[in-house]
Amino acid sequence: MPPPLKLSRRGADRLKSGHVWVYRSDLISADDIPPGSLVSVADERGKPLGTALYSSTSQIAVRLISREPVKDLLALIRTRIADALAYRERLIENTDAYRLIFSEADFLPGLIVDRYNDLLSFQILTQAMDAEPIRQALLAELTQKLQPPAIAERIDARVRELESLPPRTSGLVQGEKSTTVVTMNGVKFHYDALEGQKTGAFLDQRENYAAAARYARGEALDVFCYHGGFALHLVKHCSGVTGVDSSRPALEVADQNAALNSREVEWIEANAFDLLRDYAASGRQYDTIVLDPPAFAKTKKNLDTALRGYKELNLRALKMLRPGGTLVTCSCSFHVSAATLLEVVADAAHDARKPVRLLANRGQAADHPILLGVPETAYLKCLILSA
Ligand code: SAH
Repeated sequence: MPPPLKLSRRGADRLKSGHVWVYRSDLISADDIPPGSLVSVADERGKPLGTALYSSTSQIAVRLISREPVKDLLALIRTRIADALAYRERLIENTDAYRLIFSEADFLPGLIVDRYNDLLSFQILTQAMDAEPIRQALLAELTQKLQPPAIAERIDARVRELESLPPRTSGLVQGEKSTTVVTMNGVKFHYDALEGQKTGAFLDQRENYAAAARYARGEALDVFCYHGGFALHLVKHCSGVTGVDSSRPALEVADQNAALNSREVEWIEANAFDLLRDYAASGRQYDTIVLDPPAFAKTKKNLDTALRGYKELNLRALKMLRPGGTLVTCSCSFHVSAATLLEVVADAAHDARKPVRLLANRGQAADHPILLGVPETAYLKCLILSA
């Protein structure tokens, strides 16, 4: 291996504090390091800090993969995959759809693998993980351990561009089966490996669906419902459920999911902000409301606008809740901390002149582990409130 890549004091301190990323501005010299290569990293004085995967274009130039020297990267990756799978076996219950590998939190930075019943889907987010030998090792390991009839690759075109990786299209890389049915907490969902957002479903909300169902009753409104994850969990406990989303294709799947579970849900295609404004103005009331918007704060820069968005949604929802009603409010923006979301909701509760109590302060499902020292691995917030 070439001589170690030296990091500034700030970069070294970051790794010492438990994080695994180093930004490009904290590299002392990075001339001619090939994209995606395995590098050893050291502090200014040359003291070794571990082994990392290098990206030649991303602002996150270094992602630590081990605090030790690494002789055989493919062997290490195979072990990490096996560890991630074994970890899931210990903690997964009530579902055949869950995240098998969650990037940094499974010590495999840049790699995401999800299981949807018999199908697997993966996403590659860095130059290093995109290397052909690594892809092959990943597919071989998954095939040997899980024997899926098919494996799909989901492309994030923007990330590939940021990493200067050649464009690819989403699709099956192995096998021919691309659709299946998954069951979470006893609720069934259609899954299509070639359609949909993220890697296809919002698995990170799975445990929150069950938690929300515990408190749900009466008339319910699921805002930003996508394929009906919350709505279909609430319907058993409620007298009526309405799901709202701006995406017609998402609602079509939601409707098929309702049929699959022999349940009736009313689906409305609308902009959630407009609909909540109109409904609030016309005095509509609900007993249970779920708000699960897309990440409004994609970067720190638009945090203020994002917070105004969260405040508006929560204020309108709180105003529409009947006394004793339940609000389930989520944010998947990493830049909005749990404390900040609580403040926004408290502010909305104040404006709505309602005493609001916190029933549960939740995060992402356990198959999306949070790695201490890497705050970016904790991104989902889900508050369950009684108003
Ligand atoms: N609750 C869902 C996930 C929601 S993801 C689940 O558990 O599966 C966010 C959803 O918001 C997406 O389906 C997207 O189509 C929808 N969306 C984005 N902007 C919207 C808007 N302004 N109005 C309504 N829906 C919107």
